[in-house]
Amino acid sequence: PLANSNAARDIGSVLHPYTDLVAHQEIGPVVITRGKGVRVWDDTGRDYIEAVAGLWCASLGFDNERLVEAAARQMRQLPFYHGFTAKSHEPMIELAEMLLARAPVPMHRVFFANSGSEANDTAIKMVWYYNNAIGRPQKKKLIGRVKGYHGITLAASSLTGLVNNHRSFDVPLPGFVHTMTPHHYHEARPGESEEAFADRCAEALEALILAEGPDTVAAMWAEPIMGAGGVIVPPRGYFPKIQAVLRKYDVLLVADEVICGFGRTGNYWGTQTFDMQPDIVTCAKALSAAFLPISAVMVNARVFEGLARESHVIGTFGHGYTYSGHPVPAAVAVETLKIYDEIDIVGHVRAVAPTMQAGLRSRFADHPLVGEVRGIGLIGAVELVADKETRANFDPSRKIAARAAKLCEQHGVISRALPGDSLGFSPPLIINEAEIDEMLDRVRAALDELAVQ
Ligand code: PLP
Repeated sequence: PLANSNAARDIGSVLHPYTDLVAHQEIGPVVITRGKGVRVWDDTGRDYIEAVAGLWCASLGFDNERLVEAAARQMRQLPFYHGFTAKSHEPMIELAEMLLARAPVPMHRVFFANSGSEANDTAIKMVWYYNNAIGRPQKKKLIGRVKGYHGITLAASSLTGLVNNHRSFDVPLPGFVHTMTPHHYHEARPGESEEAFADRCAEALEALILAEGPDTVAAMWAEPIMGAGGVIVPPRGYFPKIQAVLRKYDVLLVADEVICGFGRTGNYWGTQTFDMQPDIVTCAKALSAAFLPISAVMVNARVFEGLARESHVIGTFGHGYTYSGHPVPAAVAVETLKIYDEIDIVGHVRAVAPTMQAGLRSRFADHPLVGEVRGIGLIGAVELVADKETRANFDPSRKIAARAAKLCEQHGVISRALPGDSLGFSPPLIINEAEIDEMLDRVRAALDELAVQ
């Protein structure tokens, strides 16, 4: 890579997110220069199927003239305006209306931010503000889940339950606690059914709330499917059981739809796939098909009324980003949601999901390195294990998932190495059946090569 000038310039200048910064000095980057459909090309001309849609986000693939036009049109019309002090503009209004019309459960108002992390940070502050508003300022603790991912700002990374997002960063902040991962494959007892395991997850949550003091616990955050933690699909009946506990102690549920929102799981929202009834929903990524950064927080009437009342006492809802509801990403998001309707994105995901899910299972369930194949809709993972019998993962020093992902790259697929030795897949939602087969065949070739190393 050092012979390549882009790589050398990168090594000498960029501090990369989520990268071993020392190894990077030797190995260098893959420099992506263009994209079309589900594929991207690097600066050596090599093509890859983008099996994770970038970062679970490029839902419409890597080119779309309508989104380009929507951005250009809005830039010419009004390149910037904001929502502070009751200013507004058409793209922000239209996008808020469209989101409320599509919400998984009745929602009342929409707040805009720029990233999933900011959306979750905003929702955290809203929960605190709300509890102040209704006269219970002591009810402030927040529950995340081990292996949950909610972003990396200080508060969002405190909700996140992944060690690498905590270590050396001095988070989680006080007041953030984590309940168990609902991963049947690893966490269930021998012979325990999914339903019995889900009961045990709910009991663990209740025990945590009781230990912390129910009067001090404000909200729980959950991704419908844990994405960055390893594509962990909850056991049957999990969320209704979790929510029964939350209701008992008047703890709000925040659904983090940053990955699952907009069709990924075969419904418009992951919330619908897993029977969640959230009070607040955060979303980002596919909201704008990742063409521009934008995120949203939807709140129900109960939460909104609390926020409104408190803001009236204080004189302002003292929270907002310069680019909250920026008109250009908002216009792109409006166009994205229109495209989803026109191409029936949910219908398409349901039509091709069996090729992805059955294809993952037929190619990998019996693979010597694979312990579990999991997923739903257009999201999935294969987990690599050292011992299929005991389900033990590899020694972390072998970095098996990272090696698998590198081999996939050499076979022309960009996948994602996830914690717990898993390889994650969440291709652009527009992927067709032939492309899914090609993607999975390439991954199979990569894992076969890994198996004989
Ligand atoms: N929530 C979930 C479920 C995510 O997967 C992510 C990012 O991957 C985030 C929040 C954070 O979003 P962002 O990276 O846009 O801050």
